Amino acid sequence: MGSRRDFLEKLSVSAISLPILYSPAKLFAAPSEPYEGPVLRVAIMGLGGYATRVAKAMESCKRAKLVGLISGTPSKVVDWRAKYDIPEKNCYNYENFDKIKNNADIDVVYVITPNGLHKDQVIRVAKAGKHVICEKPMGINAKEGQEMVDACKKANVKLLVGYRMHYEPKTVEVIRMRQNGEFGKLKFFQGLSGFAIGDPTQWRLNKELAGGGAMMDIGIYSINGARYMLGEEPIWVTAQETKTDPVKFKEGVDETIQFQMGFPSGAVASCLSTYAMRHLDRFFLNGEKGYAEMQPSTGYGPIEGRTHKGELTQPHITHQTLQMDGMAQLIFEGVQPIVPVDGEEGLKDLKIIDAIYEAVKTGKKVDL
Ligand code: NDP
Repeated sequence: MGSRRDFLEKLSVSAISLPILYSPAKLFAAPSEPYEGPVLRVAIMGLGGYATRVAKAMESCKRAKLVGLISGTPSKVVDWRAKYDIPEKNCYNYENFDKIKNNADIDVVYVITPNGLHKDQVIRVAKAGKHVICEKPMGINAKEGQEMVDACKKANVKLLVGYRMHYEPKTVEVIRMRQNGEFGKLKFFQGLSGFAIGDPTQWRLNKELAGGGAMMDIGIYSINGARYMLGEEPIWVTAQETKTDPVKFKEGVDETIQFQMGFPSGAVASCLSTYAMRHLDRFFLNGEKGYAEMQPSTGYGPIEGRTHKGELTQPHITHQTLQMDGMAQLIFEGVQPIVPVDGEEGLKDLKIIDAIYEAVKTGKKVDL
């Protein structure tokens, strides 16, 4: 594919100055070049909407392959087995998946279930001795996140979080520019993350399964984005909630939250998380020497954006393909992405989410 070649050429130039191990040029070697290294054998848990997207994207992976399924819906297992040629011995349900411990043909389980189920499922996978990739948000609060990190450490397995943007080429380029000091001293980040949610009966609007509302699901992109765009950890948050539909967005399920974060350098972030607005997917970073703006900034792509130096021209490659090949490289070779995708990274976002909810409740500035 021409676009991959162009991408390689551009990256091989910029990679010279990269102080990191992550090498997209190596990772996305032209399809004609055979890959003979190890392949990460992945079982997906929860065969829903996002899992369907991940499985399709993995068809283009060189280093990762879907080999197993964990599901509560037998009819889906039948369909997925046929589609992805998965042997029956690699299929489990939520009652018996601990038996995966005895399955030498599976390296990692990718948990893609409702947020409120992540903690227990991840800990069970860890106890079965398999590496875990968990979708965002990693859990529903920092206490859960810490338990997950501890359990995976104890079991000596890796815990990774599905932060696909950390592998997205335009995002990686802006982070590289920031690391190179090309924006100068950073002053401000704006993150707008939201969509208009439909079906009121879905798990995303159920406090127990979602852990909250828009903040857990989409606001987290602005939290994570503020951190990787500014390259710092916030030291305080303030937040304000607006609820226009208390029937749809029940107690504990946030519809819209505006929040602000302060960083040690003096930079500030102003963000919006909502389930009640369309077309809200924008990042803006402002520094003394330049700026970056991205819109869309975290959707499935293509991501679009520009900096004070011009348009971002890195090609679009399916995010989940890059992510899964990148995670395979991380697991097998220890190659780190430009921003971590590990459990500690997931935990940092959960601590900030806890602080935002606390700030909404108390109306006060919360120190981190
Ligand atoms: P879906 O509702 O489409 O799928 C969730 C699946 O989880 C279900 O199909 C079901 O699969 C399984 N499941 C197990 N228990 C339950 C339960 N009690 N209620 C509902 N489903 C259950 O959700 P998504 O795929 O959209 O989201 C799943 C996770 O992925 C979430 O954590 C979400 O935040 C994350 N996500 C991440 C995205 C990203 O870009 N990184 C994008 C979208 C989602 P089965 O029938 O096989 O058991």
